[in-house]
Amino acid sequence: MKANLIEIFESIQGEGFYVGVRQLFIRFAGCNLNCYYCDTPKTAESCLDLISDKSLENPVSAEYVQQRIDSSKVHSVCFTGGEPMLQAEFIASLNKTRPFYLESNMTLPEKAKLLRFCDFVAGDLKVRESGIRNYEDVLQKTVKCFKILKNTRKRRTFCKIVLPESFDAEEVLNSAYEIKNYVLGFVLQPVFGSRVDKILKLQKQMIDFADTRVIPQVHKYLGVR
Ligand code: SF4
Repeated sequence: MKANLIEIFESIQGEGFYVGVRQLFIRFAGCNLNCYYCDTPKTAESCLDLISDKSLENPVSAEYVQQRIDSSKVHSVCFTGGEPMLQAEFIASLNKTRPFYLESNMTLPEKAKLLRFCDFVAGDLKVRESGIRNYEDVLQKTVKCFKILKNTRKRRTFCKIVLPESFDAEEVLNSAYEIKNYVLGFVLQPVFGSRVDKILKLQKQMIDFADTRVIPQVHKYLGVR
């Protein structure tokens, strides 16, 4: 099995509940959404393996990725993107010799079913202001994905909400309330560099029903990948 990747590297997790843990990152190319703040290239002719400092031709084989996983000494392997769920079959073909950590936009419920074996899920709840089309439809699919990949004793699932300076707080509250029983808690993540006043007010309302933390993209402040 093969997949189109952008890069393979080791670093710290810079977002969410597990910020600071060391991870092997497998970044997939391609996404089914189009958020205005996206900083990931849509396509990649080649994949940069920053561990061996090699440029690999795409698509990259599962055997190659498996070797990287087996030789890494990390807290977990982070599948990120792009949207890794688009290539769920590729992830499912790998041996879990390290814990698997999935970062996803949570909009592909059929694919989510293939990834129940992941140990950590950092799932997005997108806000309307992200600029994505068919927002109601996306939201329904997100709730389905959280139900499928809900937090359990064996799988730690939390929800990340990326927030621009302006957003509909009531809509976010209602959506979060629908998801609250499936997650460990919520992370409110400001779009990098934006003001957080409104986000702090939202946190105050959300802590009535869930563990809600305001955490920025720490890797960007540290100037690491
Ligand atoms: S879901 Fe993530 S990768 Fe996809 S467009 Fe939005 S920010 Fe970019």
